[in-house]
Amino acid sequence: MTDLKKRKKRRKKLLKSRLGSVVAAFLAFFVFSALLCGAFVFMCMMIFDMQIESGLDEELAKASYISKSYSSAADEQSAAALLDNSETAYVLCDKNGSIIRQRGDDTRKGKEVKYLFYSSSGADESGLSDEDLVKRYVLYICDDTESDILEIKDDEDSFELDYLNYAERLLTGMNGYGYNDDSEEGGIKDGYEDNAPPKIDDVELIRSNKAFVQIPVWAKLEIPDKGQTLYLRCLITSNTQDVAYLLGMVVFFGAVLILMFIALIVMVIRSIRNIRKMRSLVFTDIKIGCKNWQWFLFHAERIASKRRYAKQGFALVDLEFVGYRRFCACNSVDEGEVILRSVYDKLRRYVDKKELCAHNAEDSFALMIKYTDDSILKNRVDLILSVLGEVVGSSTLAFHAGIYILPAVENGGVFAKRKNVDIESCFNNACTACATLLENEGSGLAFYNEKLIEEQRWIDTVTKMQQSALDNEEFVVYYQPKYDPRTHELRGAEALIRWQSPQYGFITPYRFIPIFEKNGFITEIDHYMISHVARDQKRWLDEGQRCVPVSVNVSRAHFIESDLAEQIRDMVDKEGTPHQYIEIELTESAFFDDKKAMINTIMKLKGYGFAVSMDDFGSGYSSLNSLKDMPLDVLKLDAEFFRGEAADTERGEAVVSEAIKLAKSLNMRTVAEGVEVKEQVEFLASQGCDMIQGYYFAKPMPGDEYRERMIQGKNDGAEG
Ligand code: C2E
Ligand code: CA
Ligand code: CA
Repeated sequence: MTDLKKRKKRRKKLLKSRLGSVVAAFLAFFVFSALLCGAFVFMCMMIFDMQIESGLDEELAKASYISKSYSSAADEQSAAALLDNSETAYVLCDKNGSIIRQRGDDTRKGKEVKYLFYSSSGADESGLSDEDLVKRYVLYICDDTESDILEIKDDEDSFELDYLNYAERLLTGMNGYGYNDDSEEGGIKDGYEDNAPPKIDDVELIRSNKAFVQIPVWAKLEIPDKGQTLYLRCLITSNTQDVAYLLGMVVFFGAVLILMFIALIVMVIRSIRNIRKMRSLVFTDIKIGCKNWQWFLFHAERIASKRRYAKQGFALVDLEFVGYRRFCACNSVDEGEVILRSVYDKLRRYVDKKELCAHNAEDSFALMIKYTDDSILKNRVDLILSVLGEVVGSSTLAFHAGIYILPAVENGGVFAKRKNVDIESCFNNACTACATLLENEGSGLAFYNEKLIEEQRWIDTVTKMQQSALDNEEFVVYYQPKYDPRTHELRGAEALIRWQSPQYGFITPYRFIPIFEKNGFITEIDHYMISHVARDQKRWLDEGQRCVPVSVNVSRAHFIESDLAEQIRDMVDKEGTPHQYIEIELTESAFFDDKKAMINTIMKLKGYGFAVSMDDFGSGYSSLNSLKDMPLDVLKLDAEFFRGEAADTERGEAVVSEAIKLAKSLNMRTVAEGVEVKEQVEFLASQGCDMIQGYYFAKPMPGDEYRERMIQGKNDGAEG
């Protein structure tokens, strides 16, 4: 899978997980709320059930006590008196079911319900046996007003509580209206013997310990001794205490559930925040405290491929802090990071909402800004560069901006959505553009173009091939003879490299020497050339040829090495070549480095018997200054002196003539490079120039051809 595809997949996943976490949080919230509400209702129901059951158990204990007492009464009269004193409605039937005695209305109705009584409430006072305490009772739902709170189930021999009805009654009672069980008869009383529902006006304000709800139930009690059945009207009551207990329980469970609910919300919020935190960590440059490259890549690819931005062109900008490492070395890494942070803050002020800005690497920032045309963009980037370049402490900051344009894709007036935009490679192009500014010390910007990428590819290819090319001897030494302009005799030559690549054919040094100079491989090349030239010279000397000194180019990079002179001496000695046949050419740019070390190396080289020349004199500006300090043998006048229209003018000639005079006064020989026409040869001869290296006499040539030139010695004809 390509990187782009992988990133696309990751982006989708991340967006999904972002949506997913919200949906999951919402669902969890919803489900848990429903569960909590359900649990709350269920608990209320349980509490109500317990309440009713305990009330019923209490009543059944009483009923059982009465029936026991009735059964064990000494005679019929005292038994009847006991029932009448029980202060509850009852119906006493004989074994045929005929009513023998009755008190109050017989309000039994509906089916029998079998109820398992297992309460011990009231057991102590009642003196009931264990058997009595756990036994199945037959109950009847009453035809009374409040009996609608209990309902007999159709399919079962049991009853259930109408919770809502019960709660409503309780609340009505709590609000101040209820049934007073403290009637003039006292004791347990249903308060509505006339079977009429109580009117609000009739009811008394409930005080403490007053029954709020009374649910009548008939209990069937067999009196086996007498062959009778006693039906007792029980009254399940809920009074202030019960309500207080109920409320307490409800409030307690309610509070527990609310706490659990709050805990859930806190957990959900915290987990969402944690997810966000983690995501922001992935997208944050912790050191500098700003958005990082991953964030940039994620959003840039998303924006670039959105339909709504199809019409919008974008510019990807690689913004590099020039000399950031130097800044850190001079100050500190911490100070460097503070500067990077303030650069980021400044950048953000110049970047719109729908544009992006992030810290990319150590000294580089990535921008994605809107693009309409080159000049508007250039002005904008220039402005950013000038703002960023403001003085910090005592130093002015410099930035390089490499720009790559991601244009809108138009097809017959219709803008198409960009597909598969690989921001990473687009940004690489911006970096390539930025790399072209490498030599500039000050701020600047560069647009990417195809030529740049070609160059970059070539640099890459050369860098990859260099070592194998050297090992396979693909580099060939060419010689360009130097002739005396007066006598036309061969006086010297310059060794120039050529690359015969099996893959790319003949490659001129202009295409690879600058690359080697940058990547440091030039030192290998210099060694290679010196050794080969020394070997060739030795062979020709051994053949008895009339050899002349051959100059070899030694690059500036090489001069950093303090033992350069010794290295050259050893290489030449290894071939056994006398030192006077080798000359070392230094380019003018090399003279900018450490002057002392330079003079030291030159002195050593001269001491070993090598001639040293200054190449390309006149192409730079400090040549004269360098001449003053360097004890050189040869001055090579740059080819530019002999090119262009100014070359043949009086002024041009005057400059050349003065340069030759100057060299002579410093005891140096002169070589004029790049001379192509006869008049120039004649002029140089008249001015006392010692040698001419140019196409007029000869182009650089392979060693065999040069050997012929040596044999020939004199060159009378121009090459053309
Ligand atoms: P350079 O050292 O200034 O070499 C002289 C260049 O001028 C050579 O180009 C030569 O072919 C060219 N030239 C000489 N006479 C004429 C002329 O009359 N007309 C024109 N138009 N050109 C003339 P070349 O060989 O392509 O080398 C280019 C540059 O590459 C050299 O400039 C030198 O800086 C570098 N170079 C070449 N070989 C080596 C090497 O072995 N080592 C190092 N370090 N640099 C090398
Ligand atoms: Ca040269
Ligand atoms: Ca030169």
